[in-house]
Amino acid sequence: MSRIANYCALCGRRLSKRFLGGRLRPYCESCKQTVYFDPKVAVVVFIERDDSVLLIQRAVDPGQGLWALPAGFVDYDEAPEAAAIRETLEETRLHARIDKLLAVYPKRDDGLADIVIAYSATVISGEAQAGDDAAEVGWFTRDSLPPLVFYPSIALTTLWREGTLTL
Ligand SMILES: [Zn+2]
Repeated sequence: MSRIANYCALCGRRLSKRFLGGRLRPYCESCKQTVYFDPKVAVVVFIERDDSVLLIQRAVDPGQGLWALPAGFVDYDEAPEAAAIRETLEETRLHARIDKLLAVYPKRDDGLADIVIAYSATVISGEAQAGDDAAEVGWFTRDSLPPLVFYPSIALTTLWREGTLTL
């Protein structure tokens, strides 16, 4: 995702540019502050139960109507594991426990995140029910996977289907 900053968030003055840390960055001459853009970090959660994977159907774009693993953005002051548990609860109404870190993906498609951290998790309690930006939620076996969107969901379910994903 591109980043734009035209005005200083501290004083409102129009920003200039300075070459710092290897690239041109927005800079406020009044506050002597450089604007550093941070990557958007998301988490994605792989939950398997009874040889099925938990997927949500996206209610909104990007990828509206397509399916993906439960996922969402990490808030600025939130631990990624906590974000993974929160997003799973928001999208599927399931309480989950994080088991392990599966992968860290750089941006590879039109997904909204710059860095995606993938975890495996186990359902502790609850009945799957769609919430937040999920239209539907369901469990899918290896031979009944629906059309998927976003690189991490596609990559992880592909490994799982091939039997090479260690959860
Ligand atoms: Zn300023």
